[in-house]
Amino acid sequence: MYFDTHTHTKHSCDSQKEPEDAIKAAIKNGLSGIAITDHSDLRLFYDYNIPFELPESGKDADRLREKYKGQIKVFSGIEISDAAIPIYKDRLNEAFNFHDYDILLASAHIVDLDGRMCEFSSTDFSGFDTRTLERLMEIYFEYMLKTVYEHQFSSLCHVTYPLRYINGAYGKGLTLDKNIKRIEEIFKVIIDRNTALEINTAKCNPETPYAFCPEKELLELYISLGGKMFSLGSDSHIAGSEGRGFKQAAEFLKQHEIYGCYYFKKKQPVYYEI
Ligand SMILES: [Zn+2]
Ligand SMILES: [Zn+2]
Repeated sequence: MYFDTHTHTKHSCDSQKEPEDAIKAAIKNGLSGIAITDHSDLRLFYDYNIPFELPESGKDADRLREKYKGQIKVFSGIEISDAAIPIYKDRLNEAFNFHDYDILLASAHIVDLDGRMCEFSSTDFSGFDTRTLERLMEIYFEYMLKTVYEHQFSSLCHVTYPLRYINGAYGKGLTLDKNIKRIEEIFKVIIDRNTALEINTAKCNPETPYAFCPEKELLELYISLGGKMFSLGSDSHIAGSEGRGFKQAAEFLKQHEIYGCYYFKKKQPVYYEI
């Protein structure tokens, strides 16, 4: 049994997927439930008023929940990014209240690198030296810590997201050695606050079936600190990839004597067996 707690649709600025196609694909992929968690990148919201469609995303989830009753459970949600940046505070409160969400995902997609807004997916990291990258990761993890400390989110998403670009796209080979203490602190806070840790499977494919975010070593660190609360998120932007890599994630968890994950209903965590 699997629930995908992190997917995007055309109500996100970087997806064209029809919400109904997400539900159909999730059924086809054998999922028991799916949450539609469109982006609320507070920077875009604040600077360009982009996510006007977010209330529509929640309404679509409600409509599809009724339509597909008995076939699959459908949840409404939102991925709120960059909650730690002070100038976005008002927008953050607005985003929380767009809809009576089932799930609130927390993530960070940008950092203010000493005055320069640095968005990971669009930054050219080729000219960045190790020291600057380490500074960037330090700020990034401080944001994550502040985010989970100050707000009650359901799940913390793709904890090592910047590495997807810094190491994945730009091959910098950056390690997290200097940030391990910070990551440990983040894990302790989410364990304490009953916020789940997401295993993001966006990069899992037949060639890299175990490309989890965060990486296995960090998942093991979380478990060693007493963490047991996981959610699974495909971060699907294209119909068909809902639930990708979940079997491998479940296999990994069972090896560590964890036999269940969580989905969220009206912001309450619900345990299910994997
Ligand atoms: Zn994200
Ligand atoms: Zn996402």
